[in-house]
Amino acid sequence: MKTPTQTNTIDFDSAKLQRLGLGQPSPLSARPVTLEQLRQQLSQQLQTSLEPQRVLGLFFREVQRLVPLDALAYQHKPSDLRLEFGQRGHHLLSYNLSHEGDDLGELVFRRNQRFTDPEQGDLEAAMSTMLFPLRNALLYRAATQDALRDPLTGTGNRIAMEQTLNREIDMSRRHMQPLSLLMLDIDHFKRINDTYGHGAGDVVLKTVAESIKQQLRNVDMVFRFGGEEFLILLSNTSREAAALVGERLRHAAQLQDYFAAQTRIDLTVSLGCATLLPGESVESVLRRVDSALYVAKREGRNRLAMAG
Ligand code: GH3
Ligand code: MG
Ligand code: MG
Repeated sequence: MKTPTQTNTIDFDSAKLQRLGLGQPSPLSARPVTLEQLRQQLSQQLQTSLEPQRVLGLFFREVQRLVPLDALAYQHKPSDLRLEFGQRGHHLLSYNLSHEGDDLGELVFRRNQRFTDPEQGDLEAAMSTMLFPLRNALLYRAATQDALRDPLTGTGNRIAMEQTLNREIDMSRRHMQPLSLLMLDIDHFKRINDTYGHGAGDVVLKTVAESIKQQLRNVDMVFRFGGEEFLILLSNTSREAAALVGERLRHAAQLQDYFAAQTRIDLTVSLGCATLLPGESVESVLRRVDSALYVAKREGRNRLAMAG
């Protein structure tokens, strides 16, 4: 008997691509159905989850009772979500899903055999049962993502930082891969507030966050640590490589144009860099990266210092 193959969720650094399951129908549901039966069953099952990956996974598994598929890919750009089920086939059928003007993402069915017209019709009819479950799951995802984000800069907030940092430390230990941290602080930021006002300061702060994000492959690893301080996590990154990334961030922040009350202003940032030691606690590595930042400030700012 064949059971569905579940692979683990893989969070790729750049693509955030999640490859889930290989999509064989479960033994119980392997029996073919009519379109009407499938629609009925899907409208019940798809309501049971608020996770996009589960909604789409169930859909992929069950729809194959009617139309065999090799793969299903889904992408929702506004929430940075990409999911893939199964293995690629070379014929594809693609749909842009929307509801009352809301973008619900793009769905691509793939297989090695051409899709016939009746099959296409069946897929479309089956897909309509997914509209509300998918919309709800996307709304839920957006709400939970907002709860983890700093509203001013769009970077992760402290809650997100703690969760991600703990997860990355676990991963680093399990896979014996280096984990490095950068702590970035704007130089003399108080002067900007004092000279141009807090509102102008906010705009500058946002611009710095944008500049950081542009330089990094994985924007999910940037967190607002405090007022004008950001923590950047670099998974599978050695001390030397992290120093290079830090220098790149420093350089980019310096080259960036900043405007406060229509005046172009010069701005620099300082950074501390630390790499997790074997068995080291979260508190300890944060303390070390903060001390390194302090050294960079003391030695004249607009520079990067390595933790001892
Ligand atoms: P240093 O080079 O030593 O880092 O000097 P600094 O002036 O940047 O450092 P300090 O920590 O003394 O000041 C940070 C300032 O950042 C003080 C605070 O008013 C300001 N700040 C913190 N959060 C925000 C914010 O959300 N918006 C604005 N506009 N200012 C903020
Ligand atoms: Mg500062
Ligand atoms: Mg500061």
